[in-house]
Amino acid sequence: MNRELYGNLVFELSREGRKGYTLPANGLDNSNALADIPSALLRNGTPDLPQCDELTVVRHYNNMSTNNFGVDTGFYPLGSCTMKYNPKINEEAASHRDFANLHPFTPEYAAQGALEAYWQLQQALSEIGGMAEFTLNPFAGAHGELTGLMVIRRYHESRGDDKRCKVIVPDSAHGTNPASAAVCGLEIVEVKSRPDGTVDVDDLRPLLDDTVAAVMMTNPNTLGIFEKNIPEIARLVHEAGALMYYDGANLNPMLGVARPGDMGFDVMHINLHKTFSTPHGGGGPGSGPVGVRKGLEKFLPSPRVIRRRVNRDDHPVAEHQRYALEYSNEALGSISATLGNFAVQLRALAYILSLGRDGLMEVGPLATLNANYVKEKLKADYLLPIEGVCKHEFVFDGLRDKSTGVTTLNVAKRLLDHGYHAPTIYFPLLFHESLMIEPTETESLETLDRFVEVMRDIAREARETPDVVINAPLNTPITHPDDTEAALRPILTYDELIAG
Ligand SMILES: *Cc1c(COP(=O)(O)O)cnc(C)c1O
Repeated sequence: MNRELYGNLVFELSREGRKGYTLPANGLDNSNALADIPSALLRNGTPDLPQCDELTVVRHYNNMSTNNFGVDTGFYPLGSCTMKYNPKINEEAASHRDFANLHPFTPEYAAQGALEAYWQLQQALSEIGGMAEFTLNPFAGAHGELTGLMVIRRYHESRGDDKRCKVIVPDSAHGTNPASAAVCGLEIVEVKSRPDGTVDVDDLRPLLDDTVAAVMMTNPNTLGIFEKNIPEIARLVHEAGALMYYDGANLNPMLGVARPGDMGFDVMHINLHKTFSTPHGGGGPGSGPVGVRKGLEKFLPSPRVIRRRVNRDDHPVAEHQRYALEYSNEALGSISATLGNFAVQLRALAYILSLGRDGLMEVGPLATLNANYVKEKLKADYLLPIEGVCKHEFVFDGLRDKSTGVTTLNVAKRLLDHGYHAPTIYFPLLFHESLMIEPTETESLETLDRFVEVMRDIAREARETPDVVINAPLNTPITHPDDTEAALRPILTYDELIAG
């Protein structure tokens, strides 16, 4: 819509209307607007746009938008991703105009409120993680891992210890762990899990020597199992001169229960977009703050947000200089163009402040209770390869009855017919038919009961009418895309769609 034309029309109607103005017969005439454009820049013919009436277009996009699935529309038990509800107050905080309209390079004196929020989150995360200090600059969990490993490299280099080129990663680790280590230029050594799903200390011990820079651990691990041997592992790792890295993407069940810093971890990242809300399905936006124990702060990337102490007797710091950006020579330098994903950070701070200390202390136990509740209700129908209490998530190895021919993929697709997002499937790689469920603490008992009922119905269908499950989904707008074709030759443009 040409704004000038539209404005003129409104003006003409209100002014001329009284004088008996008549509407132009052919609607809006934009020939005057074109008069200012040099003829060399004008098209010769009409643009080759798909022709549709407005109503059809509006309906198309509105209907398409209702095909979107999110936590706001249904249960999203995606293991490993912590798709919890994002309270609307978080959105209000993040979209408040005083935050949302702030330019990333606003001078410090004009952004004191935003810097204060930023600093508060750094403090809150340090307390939650049991770390000395946090940087909020990394844009995602994987980016945090890379930043943390770079801090570790920097630490070893600062001591003139340049032999340390290896990172030990358990076989149950999230794929980003070895990927981040590789991007950091480090060699990856795998350590095996025991049948109970925890890291095998006997397998780890001989791997530790003076070429190891760090051991990366996730606790609870990606099987949802708590690694009880961390204190012993930390002792062995520290004796070998290496550092302990904590992948904090699974921090959810730990909130209010335990702190990585107290367990002996030296460096950690947190996935704000998992543990502290923010809708991130489909790959973004995220934030992966990195925390370090005392002594490693100076290696954190620049800039950091600091609060200057107000010294009333000496040189009082003016209010507009209280919060400042600090650049340090020993630091990594910049790992992101700005101070990170500010909107995600604000949602996290809103989540933390609105729950408060007492509310946060309930997150971990409730997430753990919900996961165990669903697991116990379903283990008669689905194969639970590792018995016992889980933390925030658990993994089934497909249906218990293996004679039906129904796979984990079929079960996941059948869930779509019932209006649920599919769980994580075929990850972790430790089992053939992995099906990983994480309910999170934000779901009600009623929601969990309904989900359990549907999962049991699917198991019954698999026994009685397996074809129904095998041919699922039946009710979704797109039913059976060719997965391989979609991955190898995705149709991303209108031209490709027309050509195809
Ligand atoms: C999600 C996740 C990551 C990676 O986080 P991103 O923000 O997706 O980069 C790393 N480790 C674990 C255990 C995770 O669940």
